[in-house]
Amino acid sequence: MRVSRRRFGLWAAAAVVLAVVGLYGLFKVSKARCFTLTGSVVCRVETARPAVALTFDDGPTERGLEAVLPVLEAHGARATFFLVGREAAQRPDLVRRITAAGHEVENHSWSHRRMAFRWGDSYTHELRRTEAVLDGDRGPGPRLFRPPYGKKLVGLPLAVEAEGLTMVTWDVEEPTTTDPARFAQEIVAQAKPGSIILMHPMYGANETARAALPRVLQGLKAKGLEVVPAGELIASGAER
Ligand SMILES: [Zn+2]
Repeated sequence: MRVSRRRFGLWAAAAVVLAVVGLYGLFKVSKARCFTLTGSVVCRVETARPAVALTFDDGPTERGLEAVLPVLEAHGARATFFLVGREAAQRPDLVRRITAAGHEVENHSWSHRRMAFRWGDSYTHELRRTEAVLDGDRGPGPRLFRPPYGKKLVGLPLAVEAEGLTMVTWDVEEPTTTDPARFAQEIVAQAKPGSIILMHPMYGANETARAALPRVLQGLKAKGLEVVPAGELIASGAER
């Protein structure tokens, strides 16, 4: 009796360890930038063209656009804005300002909730509601989706595929420094042809990204890298 109880305890402990390892593995996979269990994801593009995509997540906000649009224009750069559907619906004037300036507006979900461990219908709902808001302001190119927090597991990539969207993450991430010069330097150092760069310039806390943007664009130009919308970059190369 005592032996079997001990054996049961060992099995239970092993099961707990396996469950923890399994959950940790799923957590890592859900955050992976270039790998997905289902569907497909583009984190960079294999292309001979010396070009990168500059992608801005969240919003739109007035503050973000006022900082970003004139700088992009001054550098002749065209970027991709992954917008939160709910926020875009409240400010259609801002969405039009982005597209009127020649940039791309794409889908960053409706609510910006983490999109793992949910049901199929909720993914579809998040995607479609945002598509409905953005569609009138888009050109004919591929329609892109970026998962909030880069999180995806099984259901989301399938829903993205079923809706005819391309899931796009990134290969160049923002550094954590608050020094704009270092921030820009680290982004430019990582960027290479086909890179997809992620920046967050929209909200109050994103001052460093806004201040760094002119230096990022100068640095990319100095490296001979043209800044084009993500849809154009993806169309110009074979996906990796
Ligand atoms: Zn976001």
